[in-house]
This record gives sequence, C-alpha cells and structure tokens, in this order.
Amino acid sequence: MEDARKVFNQMSERDVFSWTSLLGGYAKHGEMDRACELFDMMPVRNDVSWAVMISGFLGCGRYPEALTFFCNMLCDDRVNPNEAVLVCVLSACAHLGALDQGNWIHLYIDKIGIRQSSNISTALIDMYAKCGRIDCASRVFNGICKRDVLSFTSMISGLSYHGLGKDALRVFYQMLDENVMPNEITILGVLNGCSHSGLVEEGSSILANMESLWGIAPKIEHYGCYIDLLGRAGYLERALEVVKTMPMEPDIVIWRALLSASRIHHNVNLGEQIISHIGQLKSSDHNGGEVLLSNLYASLGRWERVTEMRKLMVDRRSESSPGCSWIEVNGLVHEFRVADQLHPQIVEIRNKLNEILKRLSQIGYSANTMQVSFDLNEEEKEQAVAWHSEKLAIAFGLMSTEPGTLIRIVKNLRTCEDCHSALKAISQVYGREIVVRDRSRFHTFIEGDCSCKDFW
Ligand SMILES: [Zn+2]
Ligand SMILES: [Zn+2]
Repeated sequence: MEDARKVFNQMSERDVFSWTSLLGGYAKHGEMDRACELFDMMPVRNDVSWAVMISGFLGCGRYPEALTFFCNMLCDDRVNPNEAVLVCVLSACAHLGALDQGNWIHLYIDKIGIRQSSNISTALIDMYAKCGRIDCASRVFNGICKRDVLSFTSMISGLSYHGLGKDALRVFYQMLDENVMPNEITILGVLNGCSHSGLVEEGSSILANMESLWGIAPKIEHYGCYIDLLGRAGYLERALEVVKTMPMEPDIVIWRALLSASRIHHNVNLGEQIISHIGQLKSSDHNGGEVLLSNLYASLGRWERVTEMRKLMVDRRSESSPGCSWIEVNGLVHEFRVADQLHPQIVEIRNKLNEILKRLSQIGYSANTMQVSFDLNEEEKEQAVAWHSEKLAIAFGLMSTEPGTLIRIVKNLRTCEDCHSALKAISQVYGREIVVRDRSRFHTFIEGDCSCKDFW
C-alpha cells in the first residue's frame, strides 16, 4: 500500500479513477480509516468510489458506518447506488437486525424500479429473515417468478434459523420439485432446520443420500450439523458412533457439538470422554474450544480446572470474542458491549437495569451464574452476568419505547442461560414481546416463555 501511495503522490494529474483505485487498495486491506481520509480529500467522487467505501465497511464488520455512507450517497445527486451497493447495505441491515432501515431500502428499491435481480431478492430474503420477519421474507420469496438455488437457499436457511424445521423441509422439497439443484449451503440449511426441530429421521436420510442424489459429498460441516441434530435429540451414543465412523478426523467443532449436547442432557460421563478426546488434539486446533471446556468444567463445579483453562487462554491470548448486542430504536441502531461504558446514556441504562433485576427477583428470578467461567465469589459472578450486553440492550429498549412495543435485539454470541431466563421473566413482568437473534437461532419471548422451548 505504501508503494501505491507513493506512486499516487507523484502523479501530476490525478483523476477520479486514480483516486478510486487507491481508495480500493485501502479498503481491500481493511484500512478503512485511511480510506476515509482519502475519501474526504477527493475532489470528485463517482458511483464506484461510494461503492468501494460501503463494501469496505461491510467487509470489516463496521455495519453502522456502511449504512451512514449509503445515506450520504443518496444525498449526492451526481451518483446512484447500483445493485452491488444495495446488496451490501441490505447485508449490513441483516447483520445489525436493522429492520426499519431494511424496510426503507426495500421501498427505495421498488421506487427506483431497479430490476429485481436474483442477488437483490436473495439479499432481501436474508435481511427480513435475520431481522425477525420471516413472514416478509416468505412474501419476497413467493413473489419471485424464477427462483434459483440462491433464493431457495436463503429462504431455507432463514426458516431454519427461526426454528421452523418443517417449513424448511417443505421448501427444500419444493426446490427439488422445481428441478433446482441444491448446493452444499442448502444442505447445511436443511440439516440445521432438522436439528432445531428434532427431525432426526428426515435429517438422517438427507445426510445418507446427499452424495448419491445430488452429487454433494458430505463435508465436516454437514457432519457437525448432523451430530448436533442427534445430540440435541438425545441420541448421544449414536452421535458418538457417527463421530467415530465418519470419513474424516473430528475437529473441535464436532467435539463442541457433542460436548454441548452432553451438557444439555447432563451426561457428565460422555462429557469427560469428549474432554479426553479434545486433550489429544494438537493445542493449535483447539480454536476456541478452551472457552467451552472451561464452561463445562464450571458447570461441573470443577473450579481448579476452570482456573487452569483460563490461565491457558490468557497465555495464548485466545480470549473469547467480546459479547455485543444491537438494538434498533426509532430507526437508529445502538450498540452495547459487555460491561459497556460507552453509550451516552449508560448511567440511566444501568439504573434501569438494576430496577428491572429487582422487579424480576420479586417473581423468583435469581441470577444463574453456572456459565461464568472463572473463579469469582458469588456476588462478583452475579455482577458479571448482570452486565451482559443483551441485558443492557433490553434495559435501553424498555426505557426508550412505548409500553407494549415489540423489542428486537441482535446478539453476536450465543445467549447465556442467565440472560435467557431474565428475558423470559422480563417478557412476563413488562408484558413485552421480545425477539432476540443470537448466533444460533431466533428466540421469541412471550409471557414468560421462549419459542426455543429452552433448547438452543
Ligand atoms: Zn448473558
Ligand atoms: Zn430461547
């Protein structure tokens, strides 16, 4: 990049193309701050310069900025967003769960009358599904006249994500009826759906026949899904058998699926077997497995092993990625991180959260600290789970929306057991419907219950 910059600086005549190609270089290397500086200096910007910025922000996970740049782009009447830009911003909305903005972009697409390409429809389905509106996703899907593998896959994955395994299967069979060939991702989506809905027979038959019927050899990801399916449904022995006989070496993801199944079904014996298998993996292959291991030890109350794992993790700097939640209020996305100090209203939010927790304790909710994976005393542990990002987001949501309004939150990690039971209690005490999307699925909390039936 330094060389490119030197050449650029020495140019006697710079046009919008040379500016934009340097911009593209920065964006490609994820140096978005440098790209911003350059963008501000540009005398003229064209469609491509805007597109480079927006896709650059998307590529490095700076979703709110991708949306801000898109809004600024619309204010510049010399440029028009093309299909690629629209796909990028829809994807940013999907990541953030920003439904209001996603809706608005959909209206905009209809208004400017851009041809409804397969890429746009697929991005719309994905956006609606990830923003919790599977009904809108279905409407877009049903409106497509010629559905292809991308739109089918997006719809199937969306349904699975919402725990609607039977519907995912139905769309999958519809796809086969319309003679559209599935790809690897489609199969992963269906298997996921089977897993979240306990459809063991259907999932088994898809895995067994995928190679002969559709020419797709099962990869380790497919086995991972299948083992997850068996494990969740309680077929732990059968799952272990599959792990031992599958054609490739099990990796940490596979062991992790089995380990979390043994945790759900309280099978300590299997848990310990798996731990010894994980111990035989090269430590470089652990890849985040330490977090899970230390959580398992914590749930077994074996604090000395937990401390060991923690120390190992700190030594190897494999800190678990920090929890982060997003909530959209009146079209603005607010970001919360665990134990956040950054939000301008953080003091009020914390006070609100304390008030909420007090009200919850009156109906018998108490903090579940089983998953706090380090050796703290009880009170410290309670504090650590109390400031999880989704709790801050929900407190902010209750503060800043009208009573009775649905609250939607997106979380980058799996929701912990304590937050899950707190959210159930909040939906009851405050009479709110709360939709949370975490890394593995959607949870809809209504009147003290969750749509996942405590299985996630
Ligand atoms: Zn939590
Ligand atoms: Zn749930």
